[in-house]
Amino acid sequence: MVEFIMKIYDISMSIHRQMPVYKGREHKRPIITNDSNFSNSTVYESRIEMNLHTGTHIDSPLHMIENGSNMDFLNLKDLIRNCKVLDFKRIEDKITAKDLQTKDIAPGDFVLLKTRNSFSDILETDFIYLDASGAIYLSNIGIEGVGIDALGIERDQAGHETHKTLMKADIIILEGLRLADVDEGTYFLFAAPLKIAGVEAAPVRALLLDKEV
Ligand SMILES: [Zn+2]
Repeated sequence: MVEFIMKIYDISMSIHRQMPVYKGREHKRPIITNDSNFSNSTVYESRIEMNLHTGTHIDSPLHMIENGSNMDFLNLKDLIRNCKVLDFKRIEDKITAKDLQTKDIAPGDFVLLKTRNSFSDILETDFIYLDASGAIYLSNIGIEGVGIDALGIERDQAGHETHKTLMKADIIILEGLRLADVDEGTYFLFAAPLKIAGVEAAPVRALLLDKEV
């Protein structure tokens, strides 16, 4: 048997009642309750009720485009693959095409955008996002996926241009990453979503694997 020694970075958010949620909207906070425990049963079981855009998750086109494809159409091979972490932690508002031009991004890449969001527990408002010019730039290159360390890949753009531009180009969107411990570079991404049929998004336990040094 071949033994693979590797470093694992957990780049997922922890799901709990007080976790950050999109724009701090109370109804988006997950509700975790107990179905049975040892005082009323022989087994302990919990239940969770939450919006599928809670924590680390993938959006499919149905999220923003009427009749867009749902999560069933994603291919695992597109989510378990090499990726590039790009460091934008100096940016204070939004990532634009001009910012992306400073990085090595090639057709077919899956890029993860690391920003100062990763260094804060408060991702709810005023988070760094990818603006429409950046989304157009990435779709023109022909990348296959983009991830960001915010609960939304955009905010305060009236027509949701960033989401729509990426979705129309079949670019996978991975949101809610935590990248503080990960340096810029190439990694192996594991981002398989929960297999929930017919929905527009699903939670992911996102990991990056790297050679042990
Ligand atoms: Zn989402």
